[in-house]
Amino acid sequence: MSKKSNIIMKYLSGKLRCAEFAVTNACIARCTFCNIWKQQPKIFVDKDKALVAIDRMADFGVSHMCLTGGEPLLHPHIVEFVEKASKRDINNAMLIAAPQLLLRDEMTKRLAAAGCDLVSISFDSADPETLSRSRQIENLMGIMENALTAVRHDGLQSMASVLIWNGNADKMEAVCAKAVELGFDYISLNYPTFSESDVYELGGEGIDMSKESLIQALEVATALKETRKYPIINLAGSMRNIIDYLKEPTSAKFPCRGGVRVMFLDWFFNMHPCMQLPDVLGCIHDMEESDLFLPVCNKCNMSWYRDLSAFFHGARSLPLIYEAFRTAGKFL
Ligand code: SF4
Repeated sequence: MSKKSNIIMKYLSGKLRCAEFAVTNACIARCTFCNIWKQQPKIFVDKDKALVAIDRMADFGVSHMCLTGGEPLLHPHIVEFVEKASKRDINNAMLIAAPQLLLRDEMTKRLAAAGCDLVSISFDSADPETLSRSRQIENLMGIMENALTAVRHDGLQSMASVLIWNGNADKMEAVCAKAVELGFDYISLNYPTFSESDVYELGGEGIDMSKESLIQALEVATALKETRKYPIINLAGSMRNIIDYLKEPTSAKFPCRGGVRVMFLDWFFNMHPCMQLPDVLGCIHDMEESDLFLPVCNKCNMSWYRDLSAFFHGARSLPLIYEAFRTAGKFL
């Protein structure tokens, strides 16, 4: 079965799940909106246990997976993880903060051969100096251009993963235009959040912004999405859901299905509802599918979880599914 058919079949049978799997807390970047790079000791998931974990997730219905870190490309067995996901028909993306690692060890070739469906690279500013400062990587824009050339050459698809932060909240269109100029195939917008998790520490001065600036940035992003000028994958309906949530949490149409339909596996193999909450649902190696449970939650605006959750609300999700098909025709 193809990965696309797997997603469609699982969705129609009510079994579809999506997971993020953080394979290491080691990172090269020193981002101002994340504290994971400061963590000690550095942990890299055991290869064999990680392969079993991917199998178990596939058995639970996971058909889309984002491999993340830290910096997932620092894991010596990352290509084997991609290969395993592909063998189980899991559509897989990798979130990368340090694109220079794509230029080493024939990485783009090996990822393409292993069946990587998307490399998503953190891209937070159209201005080269701000971009370097946000991640503390010198000449990041130049590195990114080279990495994208290799990505295209080896037939991989790329996505600019844009975190909305203080450095770009009033420059949404400039960031999208630059992403397209650099040659990214898609753009995803990530909504800033401070996590409550000790394992996945998100937050910091870079995203310490007012609710009003975030709402404004999302309103601009929604309007840009509707012009179809830029290949933004977030759905307008989902961004509007977050705007409603930010204005008044109870007015969000689509609460989160974190822990049930979308989930987060950390480098200790503990399954959490999301990166935001400290709650542990179980260890992936011992847990049962029935342990994947959390009452619908409306506690934060975290993008990946909220955007994907919006598809899991029965008839209410139909307009979003329609929007996804309508815009996929142009960009996907
Ligand atoms: S709303 Fe936020 S805290 Fe609640 S499950 Fe979703 S991502 Fe986690």
